[in-house]
Amino acid sequence: MIIEPKIRGFICTTSHPVGCEENVRRQIAYVKKQGKTNGPKKVLVIGASAGYGLSSRIEAAFGCGAATIGVIFDKPASGKRTGTAGWYNTAAFEKCAAEEGLYAKTINGDAFSKAVKEETIALIRKDLGQVDMVVYSLAAPRRAMEDGTVYSSVLKTTGEAYTNKTIDLKTRTISDVTIEPATEEEIHNTVKVMGGEDWEDWIRALRSAGVLAQGAITLAYSYIGPQLTHPMYYDGSIGAAKQHLYETARRLTASDLDVQAYVSVNKALVTQSSAAIPIVPLYISILYKIMKKAGTHEGCIQQMERLFREKLFGSQGPVVDENQLVRMDDWEMREEIQQEVSQDWESVDTATVQSLCDIDGYWEDFYQIFGFAVPGVDYDADVEIQVDIPSISAQ
Ligand code: NAD
Repeated sequence: MIIEPKIRGFICTTSHPVGCEENVRRQIAYVKKQGKTNGPKKVLVIGASAGYGLSSRIEAAFGCGAATIGVIFDKPASGKRTGTAGWYNTAAFEKCAAEEGLYAKTINGDAFSKAVKEETIALIRKDLGQVDMVVYSLAAPRRAMEDGTVYSSVLKTTGEAYTNKTIDLKTRTISDVTIEPATEEEIHNTVKVMGGEDWEDWIRALRSAGVLAQGAITLAYSYIGPQLTHPMYYDGSIGAAKQHLYETARRLTASDLDVQAYVSVNKALVTQSSAAIPIVPLYISILYKIMKKAGTHEGCIQQMERLFREKLFGSQGPVVDENQLVRMDDWEMREEIQQEVSQDWESVDTATVQSLCDIDGYWEDFYQIFGFAVPGVDYDADVEIQVDIPSISAQ
């Protein structure tokens, strides 16, 4: 089958297995080029099929030589429908891990559910005994509870409505957008989905099952960003959830669970999740232009490789700020970068968008998430869309 990208709003409904594999191989090649990191040896990654979670898994396996178990929520191909990018990424990851003799297995299901937690625990017990690191990298729009209640997250402000610029990436035009404030209930629900409750549930379940090593590290991800995105992000409904994540990290570390819990504040990047946040894509496309010019631009894999090598498992141990946060947004938040961003933000309009924003770079990243626009891939070639994830088809 010849596969073409079909974009609907913020997502692409098709994905390309060969392009996804090539993406994974390129990330692995990058990690291997940086040399080994003396890091964890048995790693569970929850939300392992895309974005920061996939790159964390790649760095753990190919940078640290770790055995990895990934929890994903993806779909294989069905009829003429392609599988999801996360499915193809995971198939490629397992294939590459096998080529190097690295243990890699995957559980496909809802990470919020008790059943998936139990299945994961049974797999760790059977194959690895214990894990010494747990990466929690879910970005989910909703969470279904055991009693059937479903909480949905929203991307809104808290307090007052907020008006600022936004970009229509298709027409490359700038207009104003007003983000309405979330209700108390919406904020509460967003915290339920994207806060730390489920992370804590995982850690408690792993500890009480005896499959978490003593002193294990656990890590979740957040974003802070500059003032101009604060009403939308840091002070918004998603920011409330991230505050809950920080509190959870402190609580886990202080508890008798014998874990070191960290939140890493990562750089703003184009992923399936960030594409859906109003205002943020315009910020990202300005930021990309400036950071590429400064030579400090990084993608998910560069961030995760630097995180493991320098900030978590470097010679001085975890490097945190005064709030116990690991700052992978250090280069993004440099004063000279942010000064230029705010100047360009002030002057950007439809006439200047092409010169001030890296829209091509944004689109390139967006297409690549789904395995398109990957250099070296022949998109005119017929491809097989039925691709197995080895550890899942072996069951
Ligand atoms: P992403 O959409 O690329 O990846 C999210 C992953 O979670 C995917 O593998 C998806 O399949 C998985 N997932 C979603 N729901 C699931 C479920 N119910 N069960 C199992 N797996 C599920 O997102 P991302 O941007 O990499 O985000 C990961 C984390 O990083 C989030 O906490 C996000 O807030 C944070 N972060 C993102 C950015 C950014 O700019 N993209 C910046 C800083 C921090």
